[in-house]
Amino acid sequence: MTTHCPHCGWPDSQPFSVLSRHATAAGMTVWVRCACGSAQIREVGPGGARVVSRGRPDPDPDAAGSRCPT
Ligand SMILES: [Zn+2]
Repeated sequence: MTTHCPHCGWPDSQPFSVLSRHATAAGMTVWVRCACGSAQIREVGPGGARVVSRGRPDPDPDAAGSRCPT
């Protein structure tokens, strides 16, 4: 499976920055930040990794109200 970030085209097979890893019953959950600033949540199990959630690149317009402007 080869997928790319829909925002910047970064290949998901090459995580830009791993934020954290958490062991789960199914294997592992990995938080990854892309080159464009969007966060991904991946599940890594016996069958490999899959992206279960992907955020938006920074700056996130939806988060503008909750973010310090400086
Ligand atoms: Zn990206």
